[in-house]
Amino acid sequence: MTAYDSNNIFAKILRGEIPCTKVYEDEHTLAFMDIMPQADGHTLVIPKKPSTMLLDADASVFAPLFASVQKVARAVKAGMNADGITITQFNGPAAGQTVFHLHVHIIPRWEGVALRKHAGQMEQADVLKAHAEKIKEAL
Ligand code: AMP
Repeated sequence: MTAYDSNNIFAKILRGEIPCTKVYEDEHTLAFMDIMPQADGHTLVIPKKPSTMLLDADASVFAPLFASVQKVARAVKAGMNADGITITQFNGPAAGQTVFHLHVHIIPRWEGVALRKHAGQMEQADVLKAHAEKIKEAL
């Protein structure tokens, strides 16, 4: 199992060292817009407690993490007027994980609309902000 690197990008976001487009925060979790969204409204939820992935996480993070995932996923679906929600979570480079702080992807889906490439193209900050506003209104 890989040791937790406290300089990973999500650890820096949690410490406020780099910005994010925040959607929701509570004592245990933070949700923010994915900077390279696979669909408009693609949101990430992370636990504040450090772990690289689901496999090495302390089981106590899962209840608050998935409570936030459900809360934010409902708001993403309503705020983005989506037909459905895909939830993904990658463990290890071979599985497609690129940031080594446990995170859950919430990706809105519309009938007939294909997903964009994972970690593909950067979205403009004002577009992410507009989507975050819609999601926050639905929280
Ligand atoms: P994964 O490949 O599952 O580790 O997912 C990492 C996700 O984080 C990708 O979808 C990236 O687009 C996203 N990402 C990387 N850097 C940032 C950042 N600074 N702010 C928001 N999302 C990011």
